Amino acid sequence: MFAMASETNESPLVQELKQIAGLRVKIDEPLARYTSMKIGGPADYFIEAQSDAALASLLRLLDRHAMTFCLLGNGSNVLISDRGVRGVVIRLAGEFKKIQWAEDSERVHVTVGAAYAVTQLVREAARKGFAGLEFAEGIPGSVGGALFMNAGAYGSEFEKVVDQVQGAASQGQPICLSRGEMTFSYRDSHLPPGTIVTRVRMELYKAESVEVGSKLQELVSRRKSSQPSGYPNSGSMFRNPPGDFAGRLIEAAGLKGKRIGQSQISERHANFIVNLGGAKAADVLLLTELAQAEVRSRFGVELVLEVKLLGQWTAQ
Ligand SMILES: Cc1cc2nc3c(=O)[nH]c(=O)nc-3n(C[C@H](O)[C@H](O)[C@H](O)COP(=O)(O)OP(=O)(O)OC[C@H]3O[C@@H](n4cnc5c(N)ncnc54)[C@H](O)[C@@H]3O)c2cc1C
Repeated sequence: MFAMASETNESPLVQELKQIAGLRVKIDEPLARYTSMKIGGPADYFIEAQSDAALASLLRLLDRHAMTFCLLGNGSNVLISDRGVRGVVIRLAGEFKKIQWAEDSERVHVTVGAAYAVTQLVREAARKGFAGLEFAEGIPGSVGGALFMNAGAYGSEFEKVVDQVQGAASQGQPICLSRGEMTFSYRDSHLPPGTIVTRVRMELYKAESVEVGSKLQELVSRRKSSQPSGYPNSGSMFRNPPGDFAGRLIEAAGLKGKRIGQSQISERHANFIVNLGGAKAADVLLLTELAQAEVRSRFGVELVLEVKLLGQWTAQ
């Protein structure tokens, strides 16, 4: 399906995109609505791929046209430039929202599409009495984004449950990586550059659903008591430096509550930046740079962004 402002003067790229079944294409699509921070200018092309075949054809086409692309999951760990993204933003939908469970007497395998919501997966597993994913309760990402980021909380991470990753290389070739072929580290999956995660197989174990449910409840309460709610945000802006917490350092640098424009270092948790309403990406970036500079000069610690910057950040 095509949703375009104008059908006139179509470029060869647009004409070819129209020939691919299973794509939904939008031109000059504002991206703020696709992010948890509610910030971000337009993408030249915003394309939802509904199937493996559509994704592979799209990637081959973009390669032929030398068009750059980036992936967007649920947009809960990105800061998108006010100028938006030149080239193509790809989001997975359709077939990539499917889930399949398989179990034997001891083990459970779940194969989940990259566009599936992490919270939905966690709750479904808990209802079925399958344990291993409780740590991810409250992570507002997609399965693809969570895998890519090696998302984690409360002492566990996706790498602990991943069994196999399916994906597509940047020119559309299918990829299948077993757990042993992958190297994870803190908030990083080290996937080959350009890899698009399409499905993840995870291994869980059987438990009592009451047990799994009460662990979830406990983690929900812990999250509620420590994280800001009410204002749009992207979760933790910085990775925690070894042996310390980015939030503690930013707070100790006196920056809790610091505002630039409509963006603010959260008064609740200093590793969060909140959008008070109409915040600009440029202001959020300035706040992150201020936090880095203050923490560096006071404590000699280099804070590294966890949030991914997408789009065009310079005037060129
Ligand atoms: C309130 C709140 C709480 C959070 N709590 C946590 C937490 O406890 N732990 C934690 O780790 N994170 C947390 N996050 C951050 C975020 O939810 C996770 O990093 C999440 O896994 C990102 O998934 P996403 O689908 O939103 O990815 P996006 O934000 O859309 O993308 C993140 C990165 O992944 C890439 N990507 C997305 N999908 C794919 C794909 N299919 N293939 C290849 N690359 C892809 C994007 O290009 C981008 O570089 C929190 C965020 C918020 C807003």
